[in-house]
Amino acid sequence: MPDENKFAKLREIGYTITPCCGLCKHKEADFQVPLWGHCQHPSTQYQHGKHSDPTHPLGVHSLGHCKYFELDPVRVQNHLQSYGCFLQVEPPK
Ligand code: SF4
Repeated sequence: MPDENKFAKLREIGYTITPCCGLCKHKEADFQVPLWGHCQHPSTQYQHGKHSDPTHPLGVHSLGHCKYFELDPVRVQNHLQSYGCFLQVEPPK
């Protein structure tokens, strides 16, 4: 059970968590480096300048986001736990 005083302070200071790749259902499972990964959304595929494959998955950082963001409820539960109440509904423009 989270401490109510802690949550009161977080609300008082306007604490928010921004929608981001780390909470998006299009980000593949984490790399060995947890903040990085690949985006699986078809609109983010591209032709890499050094590889011959016609489409290449876009490397993304967990703290970024794009216009194709879609919330993954499982990641919210796993990564934010009780802090999920501080998640903004819409990603910033
Ligand atoms: S926010 Fe955009 S770039 Fe990031 S994982 Fe989702 S669709 Fe891909």
